[in-house]
Amino acid sequence: MSVHIDSGLCIGSGQCALTAPGVFTTDDDGFGTVIPGKDGADDPMVNEAVRACPVQAISVAEG
Ligand code: SF4
Repeated sequence: MSVHIDSGLCIGSGQCALTAPGVFTTDDDGFGTVIPGKDGADDPMVNEAVRACPVQAISVAEG
């Protein structure tokens, strides 16, 4: 599984970090970012974060 945030879409709502804090955090400007080393996280909350993101900035690729 490969987790990615499109920084061009992210509006900094912070929902990803709230929903799946083991995988996402927010940077100094409040935008969502994948925690280093967690971009391959097999965490069921990632899918919840995908749903929670208001601008569909989070993508998950299997494999
Ligand atoms: S939930 Fe979406 S818009 Fe909000 S910080 Fe995360 S990636 Fe950005």
